[in-house]
Amino acid sequence: MKNISNYVQHAKRKVLIVEDEVINQQILSFILEKEYDVLLAGNGQEALDILKAQYKEISLVLLDLVMPVMDGFEVLKRIEDDSLLKRVPVIVLTSDKSAEIESLKLGAQDFIVKPYDMPEVILARIRRSIMLAEETNLIIKTQKDDLTGLFTKKYFYEYIHEFDALNSNELMDAISINIKRFHIFNEMYGHELGDRLLVNVAKALKDLTHTIDGIVARVGSDTFFLYIASQDNYQFLIDDVLRPAYKSIGKDIEVEFRIGINKYANKDDSIEKRFDHAVRASTEDKHSFENTIIYYDEQMHNKEMYYDKLLYHFEIALKDKEFKLYLQPKFEIQGDKPVLSSAEALVRWVHPEYGMISPGVFVPLFEENGLVRKLDYFVWNEVGRAINEWKTKYGVSLPVSINVSRVDLLDEELFNHLSQMIDGNNISISDVYLEITESAYSDEPKLIVDRVTELSNRGFLIEMDDFGSGYSSLGMVTSLPIDVLKIDMSFVRNMLTSLKDKKMVEIIIEIANFLKLKTIAEGVENKEQLDSLKEMGCDIVQGYYMSKPISVEEFTEKYIKTKE
Ligand code: C2E
Ligand code: MG
Ligand code: MG
Repeated sequence: MKNISNYVQHAKRKVLIVEDEVINQQILSFILEKEYDVLLAGNGQEALDILKAQYKEISLVLLDLVMPVMDGFEVLKRIEDDSLLKRVPVIVLTSDKSAEIESLKLGAQDFIVKPYDMPEVILARIRRSIMLAEETNLIIKTQKDDLTGLFTKKYFYEYIHEFDALNSNELMDAISINIKRFHIFNEMYGHELGDRLLVNVAKALKDLTHTIDGIVARVGSDTFFLYIASQDNYQFLIDDVLRPAYKSIGKDIEVEFRIGINKYANKDDSIEKRFDHAVRASTEDKHSFENTIIYYDEQMHNKEMYYDKLLYHFEIALKDKEFKLYLQPKFEIQGDKPVLSSAEALVRWVHPEYGMISPGVFVPLFEENGLVRKLDYFVWNEVGRAINEWKTKYGVSLPVSINVSRVDLLDEELFNHLSQMIDGNNISISDVYLEITESAYSDEPKLIVDRVTELSNRGFLIEMDDFGSGYSSLGMVTSLPIDVLKIDMSFVRNMLTSLKDKKMVEIIIEIANFLKLKTIAEGVENKEQLDSLKEMGCDIVQGYYMSKPISVEEFTEKYIKTKE
């Protein structure tokens, strides 16, 4: 145990004295003042108000039992019910011996008997209570989450081991519960209310585990894990547990939850895996604004296995050149007939087991873990090689645009990587255009503006890909140094049948004209679309009507050799 004199040397701790009689307040203050900062409350309600505002700084409460407005027993009850306040030790002040048992039952640490005629005894009791509480809190701190008092992930997993060992036959569900748009809640209502929400949800889940066998933890800022005896239907979790919890913060605010359930979590799986599955299920609904309960199922399992295999195989695939460069031509259309003006590099994965895989599947997967950068360096280099070959072998210069992932844009070294590729293949900056997808901007606007401005200043032509598909503001078009707008394919696809989509295409072309940018329409699949786009003033088109993306060899045959 710690030495008491060490402990006394610490900075002064705060003690809250809750007493209605002024004379008693004065005596106690006098005894404590040398060693402690003293706060005073004249009744229970005042005490609770002070505690709620300052519980983090208060080391101890000295609590009178008989007081007006709210008595000491009620205060004790309220403290005991609040996982935040509960950690502040309380010493009861009483002249009535018989109240001792009752107050200890209610959670008081100790008691001091009135009148206060032995200051040294009082001080000794106070020191001891504070020290004990601080030591317990230290232990609790490593096992339990500071804010909610729930287990942290590490201890949660350990307790599940123990739980499983004792209840090997019980069917358990692993559940992940996430508060939707919690960061917005914090921004709108403040962190204090955000904390209250978390605390109330935590308490409700904890109470649930008293009625149904289970354990609960807080594992991320707004994510809770629940390991619970399997239930047939989890609607009650929203109706009877979570809704009352957020209603009790006292404001008229709706909060929605995302619940992922791994039913009958397989005990042969590691505990991490059981909860990974639950999390995976909970993230299936990204776009819904309502409460969602989603079960981990066979399909998700297969998808996960498939993704795992792709990830696992990535390095080998790169080494064995399973990734192939495909090119799709782009044509200027405002002249008499379409003229080839550039191409877009689109990667393909020719997988030994799965055959041709679309980048729509693996690019987002590789973006999640940064692997896309390696893949892109490979693709860019293949592009550099092709451009060089066209120039040296056939004397043809044709720019190629490359897709720059949002992950590439986070890299400070991006420009250096690009210029290495350019120098290494003996080509120039004007041979390569950069396609930046609109959605990259909405993630990290400031950084993206800085990075893209740098690339543009160094001489790269910038094309904004998938324009109109994201949620970014029009301000983006003026704050980014863009040269070309690529109209999102979805508008082109429907422009002949939907007036709204046609109007969108017209507006985008108008904006581009106003800002003196060129426009490219992607996904042009028939003559009618082409004619209509030409009439609207679109500069360049790309799509299956002219050509699908084809291998670099085929592209060279078809479009480069014929230009010689
Ligand atoms: P994106 O950059 O918007 O590329 C256009 C997509 O539209 C390509 O899909 C292309 O094959 C497809 N497309 C072209 N014309 C038509 C058409 O007339 N009709 C239809 N229905 N589709 C057409 P792809 O090749 O599957 O690529 C999908 C996305 O994957 C690309 O969208 C791009 O964002 C990403 N991507 C492709 N290659 C790379 C790469 O090397 N690096 C990175 N970071 N992303 C890439
Ligand atoms: Mg593109
Ligand atoms: Mg696009």
